[in-house]
Amino acid sequence: MPRQRLSEAELKRRRAERWQRWASKNREHLRDRARRRYAENLERERERRRTYMRTYRQRNARTVLESNRRYRAANRDKIRRLNRERRRRAGTGYRKHLPELYAAQNGICTECGCRLPPLRLKDDRLNPAIHVDHIVPVVLGGSNEPQNLQALHGPCNSSKRSAAPRQGVIWAG
Ligand SMILES: [Zn+2]
Repeated sequence: MPRQRLSEAELKRRRAERWQRWASKNREHLRDRARRRYAENLERERERRRTYMRTYRQRNARTVLESNRRYRAANRDKIRRLNRERRRRAGTGYRKHLPELYAAQNGICTECGCRLPPLRLKDDRLNPAIHVDHIVPVVLGGSNEPQNLQALHGPCNSSKRSAAPRQGVIWAG
């Protein structure tokens, strides 16, 4: 008796069923393999995800903007905390640029235009009265590079909300 020919769809269904049975018996094995592969290709996986998210954001710009706005409104405290943590992580490492900022500004505060106190204290420490300020804030994506930094009087840094946009030193490069 000739074997009954199975339809393409039926074959597919049976293959899927066999796979399901095997997979349910080998869950651990599959999970381990997936983890191993993910770890082995971490960079590639991350890049894939980044690309996917980028494309998604581009295609759904308006939705993403709107949903970000809603999220921020509903999570003010959380966002404030995250920003604080981000600033803390950014740390004070950027203060190491103070000497070159001081030199580039000729010892002048970029906020008030007056002379800054001496760069160093007697014990050679950098003068804590001089603040290093981010021109574009870290929370807005500003960098810790000298191009984004300026030296200010402490009080000028605290009160700087001048009407005119602040201007940092123009860096030759
Ligand atoms: Zn000042």
